[in-house]
Amino acid sequence: MADFGILYVVSTPIGNLADMTPRAVTILDQVDIIACEDTRSSKTLLNRFDIKTKCLSYHEHSYERATDVIMEKIQKGENIALISDAGTPLISDPGFKLVRKARALGVSIIPIPGSCAAISALSVSGLNTDAFLFKGFLPRKREDRKNTLEQIRGYQHTIIFYESPHRVLDSIKDMKLILGNKRKIFMAREMTKLFETYFSGTIGELIEFIEKDSINTKGEIVLIVEKGGEDATKLKKDHRRILKLLLSEMSSSKAASIAAKITGENKKLLYKEAIMLLENDKHADSQ
Ligand code: SAM
Repeated sequence: MADFGILYVVSTPIGNLADMTPRAVTILDQVDIIACEDTRSSKTLLNRFDIKTKCLSYHEHSYERATDVIMEKIQKGENIALISDAGTPLISDPGFKLVRKARALGVSIIPIPGSCAAISALSVSGLNTDAFLFKGFLPRKREDRKNTLEQIRGYQHTIIFYESPHRVLDSIKDMKLILGNKRKIFMAREMTKLFETYFSGTIGELIEFIEKDSINTKGEIVLIVEKGGEDATKLKKDHRRILKLLLSEMSSSKAASIAAKITGENKKLLYKEAIMLLENDKHADSQ
């Protein structure tokens, strides 16, 4: 183990190259090899800092093989730096398998800290930062996405999502359906870049904002949702479904009263939920 090389996990900028840290430049310059998510996209960064270190591709389609190649080199005493296209490797980016393997073999793994979109957005969101859940990208398939949102509906801490521009509206509309129109949300788009935009408001207001905005389907986005209200944790998914069914046939107070009898849930809680569901529907109709 004494002869092993070191694995450096190096963060790079999420847009503005001036956010590159001097220490990251030094390490990338000095290591034997840089393992890149995409060698071509990393070239711009490396050229900008005149770093001539040899690159090796470490991407989705070559994890297994590339992990073995990199581990062999480290075991021979070579120092390797891992970078992703932007931000901190492993955070919705490749690298986990490599770090796990290196850790298991007792290799020294050293982080070179820098940008991370989730943390940058959280730090300016104005939402509670004491404890948070990083959820990464929501699933592409609508049913899976809705299920994920159901699971975290009542989560009692701030929730951070990454989002791709062409799916952002669909995702926020599903958030509206499941988390409610009035839940607070923060959007950070294109941080540190030319069209940097921040929005703070409710889920309903964000939908309006994006629909009116000329660059709505462009750019990289972080969404941060405030924690669920006390009530959101209490109502089970099946009980909400029963309430919803009843609501389509009768008034909210009657639906809450019958749902309480069927499910044994608190009637007041069901009534509050019924009002929220009706508000969501009203908002959906007006769009
Ligand atoms: N590892 C990166 C990090 O540390 O943030 C994240 C990589 S992930 C593949 C890319 C996602 O990060 C984007 O889809 C977007 O959600 C978010 N992201 C990256 N750069 C961003 C930026 N400049 N502004 C807003 N979001 C950004």
